[in-house]
Amino acid sequence: MPEVRSAAEADIVILGAGPAALMLALALRRLGLQPLVIGRPRLQPAVEGLSHRAAQGLRQLGCDTALALAGAPWRRLSSWAGAQVEMNGEFIVERQAFDAALARDARQAGVALQDGRVRQAEHRGPGDWRIHWENAPGVPRMTTARFVVESRGRSAPKWAPDRYAGAPALALTRAFRTQRRGRRSTFTESFADGWAWGTLDADGAATVQLVMQPQRLKAQGGDADAAHAAALARLSATHALLGPLQPAGDIGVRGIQTVWRGACGLEDGLRVGDAAYTCDPLSGHGLFEALSGALATAPTIRTLLQRPALATLARGYHEDRIRQIFLERLRTAAGHYAAETRWAGEPFWRGVHALGHIPLLSPAPQPPAGAAFVSQPVVEDGFIVERRVVRTPEHPRGVRFLGGIELPRLHEALQAGPAEPDLPQLARQLGGAPDAVRQALHWLRAHRLDRTAAA
Ligand SMILES: Cc1cc2nc3c(=O)[nH]c(=O)nc-3n(C[C@H](O)[C@H](O)[C@H](O)COP(=O)(O)OP(=O)(O)OC[C@H]3O[C@@H](n4cnc5c(N)ncnc54)[C@H](O)[C@@H]3O)c2cc1C
Repeated sequence: MPEVRSAAEADIVILGAGPAALMLALALRRLGLQPLVIGRPRLQPAVEGLSHRAAQGLRQLGCDTALALAGAPWRRLSSWAGAQVEMNGEFIVERQAFDAALARDARQAGVALQDGRVRQAEHRGPGDWRIHWENAPGVPRMTTARFVVESRGRSAPKWAPDRYAGAPALALTRAFRTQRRGRRSTFTESFADGWAWGTLDADGAATVQLVMQPQRLKAQGGDADAAHAAALARLSATHALLGPLQPAGDIGVRGIQTVWRGACGLEDGLRVGDAAYTCDPLSGHGLFEALSGALATAPTIRTLLQRPALATLARGYHEDRIRQIFLERLRTAAGHYAAETRWAGEPFWRGVHALGHIPLLSPAPQPPAGAAFVSQPVVEDGFIVERRVVRTPEHPRGVRFLGGIELPRLHEALQAGPAEPDLPQLARQLGGAPDAVRQALHWLRAHRLDRTAAA
């Protein structure tokens, strides 16, 4: 069938229709930009946890339909390294329904959304993209774009070799019926061949997701039912919580791989969400990453398109943010796995324990020795700009404001002013309350920065 040139040509085209794509589109709309989203709805069902911070972000972006679906938080139980603890609750969402709710929120906010499968994103030159895609009935289309965001998740084609790709694992998930009634709970349990995560609803509906090495499935001749049953039999806290289980559906199989993609920031294209990096699902952070990434990426795109003189700064901000978060998450996962030592000789645990020794994580970054002023990219009024911040051992990413007072400006005012600071005068000058200035001054003094020369 001949390709139809789409009437809807766009400055910014976002590929994919998952949380990263939809939340970025919403964040761009809030900055007054009009992206076009081309993506197909998620094919596989999945039940996932959403943290309180992620729910806050949804609220910030006005995703009321998605928030309503998340409902109230579930109790969260963990059985790890021999300790049983109840942790902060989490929200539970079925991903097909959640993504559809996000799409409704995006449409309601005025986002243009085309339901279709992208076949190729052709990069013909700077600011010259051709997106070849098929609409829902299968008619081939072509849309031109000045800027492209790649957010087709883990299956997105690479733009450069990976910077890091961990060992693949599998998650086998099955729904069950139980006799248990009561509080909605999620649970995590480590076991000899991997770890389990699951949900128990108030009406006795449960899901059990088992993460293991692909060899475990191979050992069962590729029979996912048998691999799930064999692993399930090795759990204990989960059985105590769920009681006798009656299977209530087929096994779903999802691949897992911790990956950091190369070239996440071009001048006319960025990668976001799982298309940029994937975390170990043990962290349960994927949806939060998609959301926080959207909030940080929207000003980056706006800067690239509207302030080309700051393009290098904006791209650096995007790449650096991804590097820092990816390494932080990898380090956290390595630490969490290291805490579980009961099956150190088993292949799964040998593999995850080795994470702590990979060259990418060593040596661990040293926090700055003391507090100092440095210049770095920050988000200001919806753009990426370079500003001075204070970096301290506790805040290696930098602090700019304290109680609404801009610390570098306070520092400058102190240097130019009398030896004994005039608080009401400083408050007028900095546009804050005298109390806030007093606290900021106290903070600078505590860090020995009130009179130090600026870096
Ligand atoms: C086993 C497992 C368990 C997890 N559990 C959790 C959890 O409990 N909590 C949590 O926060 N995160 C969890 N995650 C991570 C989470 O699923 C991802 O981080 C999150 O989905 C990333 O969102 P995304 O929008 O980047 O990608 P995706 O959600 O993968 O979205 C990609 C979108 O692109 C579309 N698409 C793909 N190809 C094309 C194409 N060719 N054309 C058009 N559209 C296309 C897809 O249909 C989809 O809509 C888990 C991951 C795994 C593997």
